[in-house]
Amino acid sequence: MTTSIVPDLATKVVRFLTGSQGLYGDETLRQVAEQSRQVAALLDDALPVRVEWMPVLTSTDAIRRAALDANAADEVVGLVVWMHTFSPAKMWIQGLDALRKPLLHLHTQANVELPWAEIDFDFMNLNQAAHGDREFGYIQTRLGVPRKTVAGHASNPVVQCQVESWVRAACGADAVRHLKLARFGDNMRYVAVTEGDKTEAEHRFGVSVNTWGVNDLVARVEAAADAEVDALIDEYLAAYDVAEELKPGADRAESLRYGARIELALRSFLEAGGFAAFTTTFEDLGGLRQLPGLAVQRLMADGYGFGAEGDWKTAILVRAAKVMGAGLLGGASLMEDYTYDLTPGDEMILGAHMLEICPSLTTGRPRLDVHPLGIGGREDPVRLVFDTDPGEGLVVALSDMRDRFRLTANVVDVVSLPAPLPKLPVARAVWKPRPSFQTSATAWLTAGAAHHTVLTTAATAEMFEDFARIVETELLLIDGETTVRGFEHQVRWNNAYYRLAQGF
Ligand code: MN
Repeated sequence: MTTSIVPDLATKVVRFLTGSQGLYGDETLRQVAEQSRQVAALLDDALPVRVEWMPVLTSTDAIRRAALDANAADEVVGLVVWMHTFSPAKMWIQGLDALRKPLLHLHTQANVELPWAEIDFDFMNLNQAAHGDREFGYIQTRLGVPRKTVAGHASNPVVQCQVESWVRAACGADAVRHLKLARFGDNMRYVAVTEGDKTEAEHRFGVSVNTWGVNDLVARVEAAADAEVDALIDEYLAAYDVAEELKPGADRAESLRYGARIELALRSFLEAGGFAAFTTTFEDLGGLRQLPGLAVQRLMADGYGFGAEGDWKTAILVRAAKVMGAGLLGGASLMEDYTYDLTPGDEMILGAHMLEICPSLTTGRPRLDVHPLGIGGREDPVRLVFDTDPGEGLVVALSDMRDRFRLTANVVDVVSLPAPLPKLPVARAVWKPRPSFQTSATAWLTAGAAHHTVLTTAATAEMFEDFARIVETELLLIDGETTVRGFEHQVRWNNAYYRLAQGF
């Protein structure tokens, strides 16, 4: 049964726009078209989305029309724009003003090497992106157009990687722009950082965040058909090492059947409402007999965004990471910094949650267990238990800073467990933050970044930087280059910049 809601990126389109002008005559424009088709074809082969070549643009009206058409086409997630020749940039003002889709400025040219002995002035006229793109850069900067600029030949793997990162970010931004997020209950009482301005979030990111009574869900739990529960139990038995006490006929089989009912209920509720992200909270479980654990883990694995304790902002990040990382190795999950090993020089963070860590973080076979939960006062919840695969990862948090949203990201190295954790009955990850524990934690606290994050081992820091640029949101990155002094300056300068940039 295919239940993934991660979009197939091959159904998404990036349009390739080429700028020129009428001065060169038909023969030159024919060559411009021919060569730009080749560049677009190179990108089409290299990228996970479809690259659609568009006719060469040589007038204000045509450029404006291309922008409006891109805005209106739902499958188009962004535009790659290249000035093959010189395209006087006042022709681009109206179009750039009208454009509502992400833009990547590809600064490239048709040839890799120069044919030195053959170069005449016809060649110079045909191959002048070196200054055509400078004219285009000027007008974009003058108009304040947010964009990514990538320079180099389209066949260069470094260039292709940078473009792919932006393409994935554009797909993530597109998914968030159309995201409907369902909250069951409100935020955990008295918690500050999981709060936020949901109206501003809809304006900034496009996401629609609304709350439903948890008893809407309870009604579906009670209505779940026994045959569907049976089928789901079979799926669990095939996919996981199910604890003996949970197996059909055993002492606690009913606990697993109830967990399956929660999954059926949640899934049908989300599908019926077109939701691709959700939150729960242990403080508002209505008639639910277990806190949703296994169900949440499996829904995240299918591409749903999730935040615990009503944390809708982290649910958005999980959904964005799921889409950006589509088809890549690794996964994405809600994560929470829990406890430290502070051995000097070898510090580590043990991350986990009460239950809800996504099994996309492991290539191993999770255990399906039931254990008491010391919080919430309900029956023992079923959950998947596993260790996160080692490798490079990224944690990202989203804070509401009152006048704007702030993304904070840290590049980390997920490591193998230094020792088994036989008494910890939840899924977990252990990582070393870059550049060091001290610098990372100091910078993270300075940024006012949250304890809930998305941990992704598929989407990268560059993708989140591209995402932040597209949604015009601050991103503070902590990586191997970060120093506390430089980071403090960045936070202070950003405060001034974002307030000035907003105007009144
Ligand atoms: Mn939490």
